[in-house]
Amino acid sequence: MFTLELTEPMQAVRNLAYTYARDEIRPIAAQYDELEEMPWPFLKRAAQSGLLSGLTRMELSSKAVGRRQDDVSSASLMATVIMEELAWGCAGITMALASSSLAWNPVQAMGNSEQQKFFLETLSGLDEQGRPKLAAMGLTEPEAGSDISRLRTVAVPDGSHYILNGSKRFMSNGASASIYVVWATLDPSAGRAAVRAFLIPRSTPGLIPGKKERKLGIRASETAGLTLEDCRVPAEMMLGYGSGRAPRGLAAAKSLLETTRPLVAALALGIGRAALEYAMEYAQTQVRDGKPLAQHQSVAFPLAEVAAELTAARLLLWKAAEMADCMLHNIKENAMAKFYAVPAAMRAASLAVSILGPEGVRKGCPVEKWFRDVRVFDI
Ligand SMILES: Cc1cc2nc3c(=O)[nH]c(=O)nc-3n(C[C@H](O)[C@H](O)[C@H](O)COP(=O)(O)OP(=O)(O)OC[C@H]3O[C@@H](n4cnc5c(N)ncnc54)[C@H](O)[C@@H]3O)c2cc1C
Repeated sequence: MFTLELTEPMQAVRNLAYTYARDEIRPIAAQYDELEEMPWPFLKRAAQSGLLSGLTRMELSSKAVGRRQDDVSSASLMATVIMEELAWGCAGITMALASSSLAWNPVQAMGNSEQQKFFLETLSGLDEQGRPKLAAMGLTEPEAGSDISRLRTVAVPDGSHYILNGSKRFMSNGASASIYVVWATLDPSAGRAAVRAFLIPRSTPGLIPGKKERKLGIRASETAGLTLEDCRVPAEMMLGYGSGRAPRGLAAAKSLLETTRPLVAALALGIGRAALEYAMEYAQTQVRDGKPLAQHQSVAFPLAEVAAELTAARLLLWKAAEMADCMLHNIKENAMAKFYAVPAAMRAASLAVSILGPEGVRKGCPVEKWFRDVRVFDI
């Protein structure tokens, strides 16, 4: 049977995520945007409830084998739905909750069982400041962006260790993480074939977390760089060590970038929907020239267009997620979902600012924040 409806259990999860976003995330969104800080007390509660570790291990991308499987899971669709709901509450706080998954993804894809166990055990409990432990993933570099073939962070073998030197930029959780997954090259002249990933605990000498960047939006999620200065990492911390899976560095890096597309699409969609709902309510209650704004065609038509675009974006995203759940290759569909969802969400936020007029650009008005937040995803 062909259906575009969520099943009853999925709808129940969606309702739960929505209620959580409405009651726990929305009320603190403006505060942490203003503070430009990670919402640590909130994250601590999320860790205690198991939400933080659940989102760290969520599956957004396809482990594609290229043919439909009988034992279909719904993990990707579920993750997509949850991300949209939480981002409706605040995309920055959702990033703070979910960014450890960017580090878990390559560990899951090519780490051996000891490495996976080590990663998850490192994240249990609280750090020395009493905060829940997070992970960060470092691919992006100052000179190369996220171009995998041009990495300049080098890993040089030294007996039973590798010595890493280089720097990373724009890592989510970068300043506070307890464990890092760092991409490096064994030989800068060898291009993509020499790319490897290393699991590095924060306490490792030579690993120097950078200062938090100040950003336009998504401010409740910390973004920071990292410097590696003669950082000695045991060879068994190279992902896939001893399992015969180590040479899959490039494939895992690609799969990681793949994961970010549905994540970004879902986060943008959550912001776009929040902005649309807010603008619609405003347009229904504000009267101009004798009738509510919503009854003026110049306001109603663009609202209807944005509503249609967000619905179409959601269907593209669900299709990509459903394919991932069926173990089908969905690279194209993931890209389409992001390609369509981000501009649609940007139009929604921009329209909301226009409809609210001066109120829409006032600091403290939620649409002003959504307008800034959604722009961060269009890069
Ligand atoms: C909030 C936030 C969180 C982030 N979290 C992480 C993280 O956890 N870990 C991490 O490693 N990175 C992270 N990043 C970095 C992010 O992944 C990169 O900024 C993003 O992938 C864009 O990288 P880029 O290589 O395209 O950028 P750049 O290469 O610096 O892009 C610069 C410009 O060049 C253009 N460009 C790039 N390549 C081409 C090309 N081949 N042809 C034509 N034009 C091109 C781009 O479109 C852009 O306009 C984060 C960034 C932000 C803003």
